[in-house]
Amino acid sequence: MALIEGKTGNWEVVIGLEVHAQVVSRSKLFSGAATGFGAEPNSQVSPVDAAFPGMLPVINRFCVEQAVKTGIGIEGKVNPTSVFDRKNYFYADLPAGYQISQFTRPIVSGGSIALDLPEGRSRTIGVTRLHLEQDAGKSLHDQHPNLTYVDLNRAGTALMEIVSEPELRSAEEAGAYLRKLRTILRYLGTCDGNMEEGSLRCDANVSVRKPGAPLGTRCEIKNVNSIRFAMLAIDYEARRQIDLIEEGGVVKQETRLFDSARGVTRPMRSKEQAHDYRYFPDPDLLPLVLDPAEIERLRAAMPELPDRKKERFVQDYKLTPYDAGVLVSERQTADFFERVAKGRDARAAANWVTGELFGLLNKAGKGIEQSPVSADAIGALLDLIADNTVSGRTAKDVFAEMFETGKDAAAIVEAKGLRQVTDSGAIEAAVDRVIAEQPEKVAEFRAGKDKLFGYFVGQVMKATGGKANPGTLNELLKKKLSG
Ligand code: ADP
Ligand code: MG
Repeated sequence: MALIEGKTGNWEVVIGLEVHAQVVSRSKLFSGAATGFGAEPNSQVSPVDAAFPGMLPVINRFCVEQAVKTGIGIEGKVNPTSVFDRKNYFYADLPAGYQISQFTRPIVSGGSIALDLPEGRSRTIGVTRLHLEQDAGKSLHDQHPNLTYVDLNRAGTALMEIVSEPELRSAEEAGAYLRKLRTILRYLGTCDGNMEEGSLRCDANVSVRKPGAPLGTRCEIKNVNSIRFAMLAIDYEARRQIDLIEEGGVVKQETRLFDSARGVTRPMRSKEQAHDYRYFPDPDLLPLVLDPAEIERLRAAMPELPDRKKERFVQDYKLTPYDAGVLVSERQTADFFERVAKGRDARAAANWVTGELFGLLNKAGKGIEQSPVSADAIGALLDLIADNTVSGRTAKDVFAEMFETGKDAAAIVEAKGLRQVTDSGAIEAAVDRVIAEQPEKVAEFRAGKDKLFGYFVGQVMKATGGKANPGTLNELLKKKLSG
């Protein structure tokens, strides 16, 4: 457990996260208006979203399915009946004067998320609930010196609010929770997880206590839009609360904002100013009743999720849990790896994908879906290593050129004459030459300076233009040096 040191001893940080995940859907939760990101302001607004009098909401079945899939994906209980409530508050970008949300009876109750922590450690965090609600519009404060503009394109878009139990114990765990949740949402295709575009946002509730003490008073840091900022905000807030208490102060329950430019949290509103939302069931909507057969159909169609996939990779491909974890963190990466590994040495495939390929992709700032080298092309290169056409060492150079030019491995090997020399006669000649040229070094080696072996390997490699088969080379060199 990560404790934080204070003047009066160690402190434990307690964190609960509320995540707002925008549902992947072409139309909104209760209207047929489009949801595409970046459209001309107010071009995707139906009379329902603008709250014209007399307009009635109609539930979007696809959004409901997305929430059900997500609920199954986080191992929650999908409730056969749930209820939509009105959450009342006044704001310029909320034309109805209320948001349709779910309060006492959410669509999903309970659930859990397994964290992947450093050194292969893991912890399971409880999810309290997942409910469906509408997003609000956007107030634009930077378009005019003394006016605020309102864009209602986002108004009425479906959100899933996913609330965790107060079980996270460090910024690191909060980061791991957000990463894992985002991975699951992306595997399911129910939220694109794009934090820069605001499709995934998080409120972090933070309190501190002495280990074993009851929960302390929390502050809620609103609307953090990156995992890194969430972690920074939590660390700052925990330290602030500890210092405050140790100086004789008390933490007041309040909502705060994270100022990413200065790396601090600032008060936004206190509990006394908190909204009283006057929730009540929306009279325009019937309770949401799900057909159990439909839930089962969705369950049966679930894709393999990251935790299961990771287990399978460790079991079937004999990968280390670490490598398996890296490979399953994105579904495309996992698929790519499996295509390379098919019918080949899976550990070698994993090493090439996470090592060479990731290295060059990172340098080029590209994702795996933009890789200039396909899975089949990497597979073909691995085949050339396996049948001794090229050494592993040469293969790395070949790979760099494949990445650069998009050419295939065999063509590069032929054009550059990189075929490895497996003919032991040719290697033996090179070994003899090196030994003849370096009598002092040979004498030193024979007198017990074993470290020199690597030096001789290098010399023979150089003499063969790097093309000698390393196994044959080693064997011959050992024989000749000891003789
Ligand atoms: P609200 O809806 O008023 O924000 P909830 O009871 O739904 O209140 O809690 C919201 C979040 O706060 C949850 O993620 C929960 O785990 C977390 N939370 C509750 N109590 C604490 C606490 N003492 N310290 C940290 N987080 C907490
Ligand atoms: Mg809250």
